[in-house]
Amino acid sequence: MSASPTPAVARQVGAAWTQQDGERTTLTVTVCRACAGRWFPPRDTCSTCASDDVEDVTSDTRGTVYASSVVRTAPRGFQAPYVLAYVDISGVRILAHSPSSDRALTPGTEVELTVAPIADSAEGAVLSYAVTPIDDQPAPTGEQR
Ligand SMILES: [Zn+2]
Repeated sequence: MSASPTPAVARQVGAAWTQQDGERTTLTVTVCRACAGRWFPPRDTCSTCASDDVEDVTSDTRGTVYASSVVRTAPRGFQAPYVLAYVDISGVRILAHSPSSDRALTPGTEVELTVAPIADSAEGAVLSYAVTPIDDQPAPTGEQR
């Protein structure tokens, strides 16, 4: 008998905006030099003032939950129920899965950015940036369910 193969990773949502150094996960956030607007995903032109005088900065590793919900009816490839949260981090509000959570996260909950599998496809797991409550420390790849 051979060991079962490591499941393939088909793709990573937001891979171009996600940095990982093994311990920390951060995102790329665009800051407008003209009006101080902030954007995620990053962009070349500010959506508030149309300036192209923008720069990309690295986000914090931790954010705060603004709102959260449990998705009970999932699109194909996603395994319901799962938790989605709007998270305020480095001046932007992102929508992220919280794969280690089994219920919606209370507003104000501190979370850490991570990368975790969020869905399955015929080619393998789909990874994405995700969040884990600080008091519920992660397997870095979000393996628990
Ligand atoms: Zn602007």
